[in-house]
Amino acid sequence: MTFVVTDNCIKCKYMDCVEVCPVDCFYEGDNMLVINPDECIDCGVCEPECPAEAILPDTQPGLESWIKLNAQYAEVWPNITSKREAPADAKAFDGVANKLEQYFSAEPGQGD
Ligand code: SF4
Ligand code: SF4
Repeated sequence: MTFVVTDNCIKCKYMDCVEVCPVDCFYEGDNMLVINPDECIDCGVCEPECPAEAILPDTQPGLESWIKLNAQYAEVWPNITSKREAPADAKAFDGVANKLEQYFSAEPGQGD
């Protein structure tokens, strides 16, 4: 089991999650983060920290594509362990539907 970052992180990216992860397993894309499933120790502390409620356990049904996306991009995006400023328009994008189709960027973020 692992935890996965899902749709509502896209363009929200508050980064509260990275501060609490004991094994530093968050990786940063241009406009979202992912969790490396091989490094996550399933402690669950990040889940309630996410203001966008974007972090879910992979035991929840329907997350197959997100499990794949997290594993795929954790391989190529840089590690992030400390929080920076959230995007100025993060609040406006919180809760917007279908962000993956509309806004996902495969570009890497800046990392630490
Ligand atoms: S706290 Fe939530 S919305 Fe923010 S970067 Fe982490 S997973 Fe994404
Ligand atoms: S469940 Fe724990 S180990 Fe996994 S990403 Fe969240 S804080 Fe890190």
